[in-house]
Amino acid sequence: MLTTAMDSPVSARRCARPDCAQVAGASLSYDYRARTVWLDEDVDPDPSRHDLCLPHARRLRVPHGWRLIDRRGNAAVAVPVSAAG
Ligand SMILES: [Zn+2]
Repeated sequence: MLTTAMDSPVSARRCARPDCAQVAGASLSYDYRARTVWLDEDVDPDPSRHDLCLPHARRLRVPHGWRLIDRRGNAAVAVPVSAAG
């Protein structure tokens, strides 16, 4: 019989930046082929994702030619790439 005890306790996930110990508040994922980076609100842990604290998520920069799409909350805003080469 499944019980709620099966669920692992909510563990505080930390920012993935090496020199940062803040609690993660956003999740970063990316697709090399699409050259796109997504920021999502806290999602289930996934090895292909990187947790970021909110300040680091806010300051996130993506390489030239990449898009950053913030899907957190209602801020579905794609940051335009100004330097198109
Ligand atoms: Zn951080």
